[in-house]
Amino acid sequence: MNARDRMNRRDLQTTNPAIGSRLPEFRLDLWHSTARPAILPSRTMPESTQDLLQTTSPPLSQQSASRTSASDAPVELVLTGSGTSVGVPVVGCDCAVCRSEDVRNHRTRSGVFVRAPQGEFVIDTGPEMRLQLLQNGASLIRAAVFTHGHADHIVGLDDLRLFSFRLDDEIPLFCEEPVEETIRQMFSYAFGDRSTLAHRFATPRFRFERIKPGQTFELLGLSLTPLRLHHGDLPVLGFRTGNVAFCTDVSTIPTETRGLLQDLDVLILGALRYKPHPTHLHVDGAIRLAQQLKPRRTILTHMAHDLDYQTLADELPDGIEPGYDNLVIQLRTGDRPA
Ligand SMILES: [Zn+2]
Ligand SMILES: [Zn+2]
Ligand SMILES: [Zn+2]
Repeated sequence: MNARDRMNRRDLQTTNPAIGSRLPEFRLDLWHSTARPAILPSRTMPESTQDLLQTTSPPLSQQSASRTSASDAPVELVLTGSGTSVGVPVVGCDCAVCRSEDVRNHRTRSGVFVRAPQGEFVIDTGPEMRLQLLQNGASLIRAAVFTHGHADHIVGLDDLRLFSFRLDDEIPLFCEEPVEETIRQMFSYAFGDRSTLAHRFATPRFRFERIKPGQTFELLGLSLTPLRLHHGDLPVLGFRTGNVAFCTDVSTIPTETRGLLQDLDVLILGALRYKPHPTHLHVDGAIRLAQQLKPRRTILTHMAHDLDYQTLADELPDGIEPGYDNLVIQLRTGDRPA
């Protein structure tokens, strides 16, 4: 098998994880590849921000957002990253999961991409943001929503600056105040005096939108309800839209939030590993919680290299399954949060 065939097989495997997930050459590619990764686009992108500004006319912000999604376009949520903060494989680790040929054990950092009725947005912007967007055919991200300010959930934010150029507008960042503070520190170049910056057209344009637990807001044709969760001692957010909820970094769910997690079709729930952890649910804790909340389907995410996809899938009770990168969940737009 030559390098091109290998790349094509890898591409197929990566985009269709459920189909023939064993790929003997994959690990070799992952560690020793000199070929161009299959997920890079074949087309070339404009080289500078000036090119972007000049080639985007008229500004997309002056067009109707709904023009970008036809009425019969899918409204869906994609679990773009199912991995814990260091990802899987872990660099330098030769455990069975990190060496696994099953692509469902290859986990990028946690995040969600949503194709809403009036455009695309993401929940969290982890370090593989750009690659995740390419992998899932994203075209124009119009907003980002944040669960919390840990690095594995925000350090990819700069990858959204492209869209502020395309839209000729600020990208709204929906978050709580502590997350705004972290983003302002980490991305200080995006919030300084633009007139004094040497390359001011290259800086991202963001604006903050405050959200609060339990206060539903509308975003691109979907209703989103922020859900208070506890991630160790840190108050963080999960989100519910219709009958789907995303609760990634969580160790306990307060009573007032449990009422907002009833009658779910799908609960995406963090489960780090088999052993208990001070700031994340472990597998048994996630199972207990799922059995209390009774969603029709629970999908585990934010998983470390302790968890082998197939082993875990075989062990879990009915209705609970491990997630994997690029898993797609259809959304029913008519639904309202409970
Ligand atoms: Zn995390
Ligand atoms: Zn490992
Ligand atoms: Zn976290």
